[in-house]
Amino acid sequence: MNISEISGLYDKYVMPTYTRVPLALSKAKGARVWDSEGKEYLDFFPGWAVSGLGHCHPRVVKAVKAQTGRIMHISNNYLNELQGRLAELIIKNSFDGKVFFSNSGAEANEGAIKLARRYGNPTKRYEIITMEKSFHGRTMACISATGQPKVKVGFEPLLEGFVTVPFNDLSAVSAAVTNKTIAVMLEPIQGEGGINVAKKEYLEGLKKLCEEKDLLLIMDEVQTGMGRTGEMFCFKNYGVKPDVMTLAKSLGSGVPIGAVVASRRICDILGPGSHATTFGGSPLVCAAGIATFEAIAEEKLLDNVRIINKYLFARLNGLKKKYPEIIKEARGLGIMAGVELFIEGDEIVTRAREKGLLINCTQKNTLRIMPPLGVKKGQVNRALKLLEASLKK
Ligand SMILES: *Cc1c(COP(=O)(O)O)cnc(C)c1O
Repeated sequence: MNISEISGLYDKYVMPTYTRVPLALSKAKGARVWDSEGKEYLDFFPGWAVSGLGHCHPRVVKAVKAQTGRIMHISNNYLNELQGRLAELIIKNSFDGKVFFSNSGAEANEGAIKLARRYGNPTKRYEIITMEKSFHGRTMACISATGQPKVKVGFEPLLEGFVTVPFNDLSAVSAAVTNKTIAVMLEPIQGEGGINVAKKEYLEGLKKLCEEKDLLLIMDEVQTGMGRTGEMFCFKNYGVKPDVMTLAKSLGSGVPIGAVVASRRICDILGPGSHATTFGGSPLVCAAGIATFEAIAEEKLLDNVRIINKYLFARLNGLKKKYPEIIKEARGLGIMAGVELFIEGDEIVTRAREKGLLINCTQKNTLRIMPPLGVKKGQVNRALKLLEASLKK
């Protein structure tokens, strides 16, 4: 099928919920993708932050292929070794506790919200403080939690019990705590919100506040998790452990998987019958998750992220110096980079795509650059050359 035939099918049969780029991607490998006409692109935002290992990582492909022929799905009433092993890997790489598996980031956050509600139930506390410009997913509870009015339009009445305050403002959180508050929920780096990095004092202050007031500190690491920031999970950059952490996106390198991770003290609150999902943590997706952890360890990808971080930001700051009238700031951690512009970014994203580079723009003026963890300096060079050429009309 050519692009207009494919596009015709979408127009007729697929709900128009997404702004779609007129490009049908049909094949991919690492940081490269090809469209239906055979044109190659360098993908510096692979799979909307899902393909952290790059597309079709051989270890993941092998694990998934093998697992499809063994056993793909079982009911969660039975045990499977792979779910247990993936839970162990997540815990050994984060903090002591237990894991619940979901199928997406929004569902992971739903689980975290339900856990907080159960925790607060005996003391009649249910309010959760969330941040402006946050993004937690598209279910009713998650759009209620999200601090961006645009995701809520037309869906009222929303779920009650969420209070939103400015990000990186500790006193705003303190002031919002009432005798109904049960949790504080945030992304350590806001992804959709424009790559806004939490300050160290802020997270440390939140931790202390949560301890004093018996609140749960919930970190949404759906986008920042799995090595993106140079640590397996972003909270490790700060030395501040959450009580609950949510994961999804690159956890399964392309298969739908999410996870709620709860610390030992609260990890048995959601007891039998309190929460469930049919597809959660199937042998198939857990095989992909295990392969993802193994690839990160064996290919020393965290080391690569730290090396590329220095290189990427040196280059981005070089661009900023050269184009001070276009680039306002380059910010981020590891290889989760945002380039805030003085102008709107969509046109630049389009020009970059025409030149063979895929990136993203969020909040209208912030380019999002999140290459695979194993990206090479040569690929960064090529991407930045294409980006520079796209800055100019
Ligand atoms: C993408 C994202 C979500 C939602 O994940 P889905 O899998 O789309 O439901 C939640 N939180 C953050 C931080 C995200 O980046």
